[in-house]
Amino acid sequence: MRGTVKWFSQKRGYGFIVGQDDIEYHVSVRDVSGVTLPANGDTVEFEVTQGKRASRATRVTVIQRAASAAQPARATDDRVVCAACQKRMVPRMITYRGEPKKSVCPFCGTTYRKFGCFLATAVYGDYDAPKVRLLRDFRDHVLNRSSAARAMVQLYYRTSPPIADFLRAHPGSAAAVRLALNVLIRFITFIDGKARWIGANRRNDGQ
Ligand SMILES: [Zn+2]
Repeated sequence: MRGTVKWFSQKRGYGFIVGQDDIEYHVSVRDVSGVTLPANGDTVEFEVTQGKRASRATRVTVIQRAASAAQPARATDDRVVCAACQKRMVPRMITYRGEPKKSVCPFCGTTYRKFGCFLATAVYGDYDAPKVRLLRDFRDHVLNRSSAARAMVQLYYRTSPPIADFLRAHPGSAAAVRLALNVLIRFITFIDGKARWIGANRRNDGQ
């Protein structure tokens, strides 16, 4: 049957569809087929399953997005509120040697978000945690010197934000990565003895 999504909350994972027969069907996120989750006003196709109390929509597929949902909402999603000047803005990316360093508010220049060591930050929870600093220094002063290592770093930048998101959502696997990073940290500390490059980095770490 075809129907229109009356209301669907992606956060709560359920909603209601009004079918062509004018009956309201409960829909759960686990009965949605495909990757597109229903949004208010979408046209969907579904099968009716009789539940204990009410009719449920199952095998729900979005066949047409609501006219309002597609484009304009997406544009406003990119805008955020600056914590310092309270203006709505699209953060401006600041790069250093082709890598994203931070994004800033275009109106007042306040840092909106710092980039770099996404993984380590996700694992240790804080951008300025000592171990995150150590890994960042290692990246800037050892890895960036050879082109092969630089390619690795760039690959890391492309892949780590989604991995970091995954780790934040699955704290169990963050513990495994933390273990691996701890071994790396011990290795870095070992090969460098008194860690000369950390001292060098402290002086010109003017970000
Ligand atoms: Zn601002």
